[in-house]
Amino acid sequence: MPELPEVETVKESLKNKVLHKKIVGIHIYYDKIVATPISFFTKNCMNKEIVDIKRRGKWLLFDLGDFYLLSHLRMEGKYFIRGEEEAILKHEHVCFVFSDHSTLRYLDTRKFGRMYLIEKNNIEKVKPLKDLGKEPFDESLTVLYLKDKLKEKHVPIKTSLLNQHIIAGIGNIYVDEILFLSGIHPLRPSMEINEKELLKILENTKIVLEKAIGLGGTTIRTYTSSEGVHGKFQNELFIHGKDKEKCVHCGNPIHKIVVGGRGTYICDICQK
Ligand SMILES: [Zn+2]
Repeated sequence: MPELPEVETVKESLKNKVLHKKIVGIHIYYDKIVATPISFFTKNCMNKEIVDIKRRGKWLLFDLGDFYLLSHLRMEGKYFIRGEEEAILKHEHVCFVFSDHSTLRYLDTRKFGRMYLIEKNNIEKVKPLKDLGKEPFDESLTVLYLKDKLKEKHVPIKTSLLNQHIIAGIGNIYVDEILFLSGIHPLRPSMEINEKELLKILENTKIVLEKAIGLGGTTIRTYTSSEGVHGKFQNELFIHGKDKEKCVHCGNPIHKIVVGGRGTYICDICQK
């Protein structure tokens, strides 16, 4: 599942391929992917140029001038560029046709991905970005902010860090790495994490995500989020997916537990 670094990588890759192209046709083969009324979506995408592509949390934002086209890849969403004449791909659900006869195709085997078209003026006021938490690199993401958000939360700290309403963009792989580097056990109640530990979490969040973005994200199993996007951060993971391997810090075997329904990797010695 793509997390912030993978979405960032897809964004950069798409910028190289579709920036300043003009949308002259839209084919929607599976309606549910588009969460905005289809007629509104189609009408307001037509004849628009992709001016820029941004990212907010795990959302891609295609800047169409007066509107943002928002796209969330969820589990398996991918983008491909093909010629207009090329056949519909397997699992292709949405196709944007450009004036230069190239197309941007959205593929999604699981069909969980979603697109919205939102007026720019309303972007922070309506779903899906309305209640999204702070960006990991935002200066206003501070220990005090986090302390306030967690003050009455009994849920495990891992669950809170995955909560997109608190911090946007962290998913299951990176949260394991962040908590390992911070020496914090993922099951500890959120409200009991002290300020010093919160600072460590924030510092390690930036370190882990920055490094992962630099390496193009993480490629696990067969997931690639766009053509030519193969992250290398999987080679840098310390803990996630390392069941029964030795902890790099203490040599103790890593093991897998379940936290909030998510597979979680920990070192009992290093994470208190
Ligand atoms: Zn250890």
